[in-house]
Amino acid sequence: MAQTIEPVLYIDPQAQRPAGFCGVCGGELYSPGLICIRCQRDKA
Ligand SMILES: [Zn+2]
Repeated sequence: MAQTIEPVLYIDPQAQRPAGFCGVCGGELYSPGLICIRCQRDKA
């Protein structure tokens, strides 16, 4: 019987749905903060 350790303290940004898209590079934005995963900029 295999045990699966759930990474409860680790939030994988790719497991979430993007809250929007970056106006600079078109990368995905995730809340909270809406920081672009590509260029690390916020939407403004
Ligand atoms: Zn960007």
